[in-house]
This record gives sequence, structure tokens and C-alpha cells, in this order.
Amino acid sequence: MEEIIPETGAEEKKQTLKIFQKGFNYSQDGAGNRLVYHLQGCNMKCPWCSNPEGMDRKGVLLTEREWLTEECCPRGAVQNGRLDRTVCEGCSDYACIRSKRQKGLRFSCQTFRVEEIVEEAVRARPMFFDGGGVTLTGGEISMQFDAVKELLQELGRAGIHRAIECNGSHPRMPELISLVDEWIMDVKHYDEEIHKQWIGASGRQTLENLEKVTAVHPHVLIRVPLIPGFNDSPRDAAGFAALFEEKIRGPHTKVEFLVYHEFGKAKWEQCGEEYRMPPGRIAPGTVEYFERALQEKGISCIRT
Ligand code: SF4
Repeated sequence: MEEIIPETGAEEKKQTLKIFQKGFNYSQDGAGNRLVYHLQGCNMKCPWCSNPEGMDRKGVLLTEREWLTEECCPRGAVQNGRLDRTVCEGCSDYACIRSKRQKGLRFSCQTFRVEEIVEEAVRARPMFFDGGGVTLTGGEISMQFDAVKELLQELGRAGIHRAIECNGSHPRMPELISLVDEWIMDVKHYDEEIHKQWIGASGRQTLENLEKVTAVHPHVLIRVPLIPGFNDSPRDAAGFAALFEEKIRGPHTKVEFLVYHEFGKAKWEQCGEEYRMPPGRIAPGTVEYFERALQEKGISCIRT
């Protein structure tokens, strides 16, 4: 593992991956017991994101309010319990996170060589019960496309089951089709203008890839996060049903609706950002309503 120092604009090295979280979970992001790696960087900015520390491609400093004192930074960036991030912009050595003596600041990600991850996965093989393996999720995995591709190839050579969770927005995503055993893809909205307005990025490439991937891949799960005021109305149920009827090509693809929660709210503040989601929740029965709309079109829905 390399030092935990953020890169400052250097070109991404092909053989390394920035990871902001890793650990096991059972059956949430693919089959069985899985070692899940969260990759740093995302090209979308969903205001409901529960992992905002994974958005910035270079990584971000997170603050722990109760430990954030002036001693955390030798350059005076912490004053009165607040971090002045404009001071950090010109910082060359990130002395704060080199210090073992402070707990008020930590950097979101660490950099690993592809071979280190493969070795870790091979060592973890006895834990991959019930069809488990490795899942790559984010952030958005395609932000580190070449390294992800190399990692998937190496995991395949090692005989490890591979799942990805992605937003499908990278034009090269179809290159990964033969390297992935289980493909999970988020689709946030069927309306391009609403997609851009809320997320700050186009959803067109995702829909193009949706067609390409579902036409040939035998294990695809489409995930739709149901967000209050964004995509949870009866009109939206009809919109998604029409979209998936047109775009899903293969018979094996399934759709899952996920209910909005505020689990990431505190982390937005830790990252120095405002949580902009208005108060609201998904009404009881909404998931069932959306599932019925799809099932009437012959589209299978599941809950994991
Ligand atoms: S990045 Fe540099 S300026 Fe910012 S808190 Fe750390 S040491 Fe201080």
C-alpha cells in the first residue's frame, strides 16, 4: 500500500486504484459473501449520495468535529473548530494526515496497486461462501477505468467471482462485459432534463449502455433509487416502465427499487459540503406501486 497522500493533479497511474472503503457484506452488492471495494471519484453529484467522501476524484479531507482542534494543522487551517479548506488548496505535504497524534482530520482514500488487491482477494477466498467474491463499487468505478479493467482481468485469472456496481455513464463500459459475472447498474431517471438538473450530468450514455449490456449479459440488475420529489410519482412509475420496456434487451435482467434514506447526511458536513436534499420521504406502498408498473410490462423486479 502506498502512503496516504492525495495526488495533486498527476495523471492516474494505470496499475493503482484509489479506494475509500472496503469490507465484507452479504448479498447486498452481488451474490453471497463479498469483499466490497468502494472506489474514489464520481462524475455525478447526486444530492442524496450516502458516500459523499467518494465523490472527489483526488479524495477529500474529512473532519471529526469533536477532535478538530488547532493542533490538527501546523499551517493554521483549523480555527475555532472549523477547517478553512482554502488553506489546504495550497498545501504541499498534508502534514495533518501524516501525524499519528491527531484524530480531527483524515483523508478519504488510500492508494493500492492492482496486484495488492488481487492478493488480498485470493487470501479472502475462503470467505466467499454462497457464490460470493469481489464487488467493485463507488464512487463510480469507471472513473478509474483502465485500472478497474486490469483488476477484473486479474481477478478472473484467479477464478474469483466479480461483480460491479456502476452508474453506466462511461462510453467504454461495454469493454467490461466479458470481465464481469454480475453487473449492477444504477438508473436514476428516464427524463434527461431532470437528470441533468438534479445530478449535474447527462444520463444518455447510461441508457445507451443499458441496451448494450442487457442485450448480451446474463446477470444484470438495474437499481433505481426512489428519491422524494425527484422520481417517486405515479407519472415516474409509468416513465420508468416505458423506459425499461424499450431499453432492456435480454430476458434475464431484473430491476430493484431502493428507498431514499438520509444515512449520508452527516458525512456531507464532514466533507465541508452542505446537504441540499429537502426534507421528505418515500410514502409507504411506493415500491410496490413501481414494481406493479414494471411487472405489467413483463419486467421482473427483485428485492435484495
Ligand atoms: S491539508 Fe495542509 S493546510 Fe490542510 S489541514 Fe492538512 S496540513 Fe493543514
